[in-house]
Amino acid sequence: MKPSLEDTLLSAIRNIPDYPKPGIMFRDITTLLGNARAFRRAIDELVQPYAGSKIDKIAGIEARGFILGGAIAHQLSAGFIPIRKKGKLPHETVRVAYSLEYGLDEMEMHKDAVEAGEKVILVDDLIATGGTAEAAVKLLRQMGADIVASCFVIDLPDLGGRARLDNLDVPVRTLVSFP
Ligand code: AMP
Repeated sequence: MKPSLEDTLLSAIRNIPDYPKPGIMFRDITTLLGNARAFRRAIDELVQPYAGSKIDKIAGIEARGFILGGAIAHQLSAGFIPIRKKGKLPHETVRVAYSLEYGLDEMEMHKDAVEAGEKVILVDDLIATGGTAEAAVKLLRQMGADIVASCFVIDLPDLGGRARLDNLDVPVRTLVSFP
């Protein structure tokens, strides 16, 4: 019998305790990306609700959102927008500050990466507090994007990210969660 999606994905994700610092359980998707079956199932499942819809662009958050987002963009025949840490994009950008556990960081997007009214799906590997995704939503909306949905392989529901995006009226799709 074919293993369930959840079993396939959960067994392909590597859990690394105390990385990058004590007390954090890092959910490492490099093992999922290296597993052809799990990678394909994750991408197929993430795109499934949007198959046949007109999606203009996929916005991927650096760095793991680039890998997932590129595959999703290809499947949906959409363009791809990189959302990057500050200072990495060569052309004119919009920038937003967001809070991390300690201090602030900034992320950027090229100003001409999206046109007003374009339908965009936001992609990252994991949603925790939702702060990173919220910052990306702000950048996209600043340039007039119509954010249709946000997609993540992993949800850490106890950290409240989904509720944060719900408050911004951004639908959230996730495949597996770790309490
Ligand atoms: P947040 O802004 O709190 O929702 O954090 C989400 C971002 O941090 C994503 O880009 C994730 O890749 C990364 N991240 C946060 N917590 C973890 C974790 N436990 N394991 C792996 N990545 C994480």
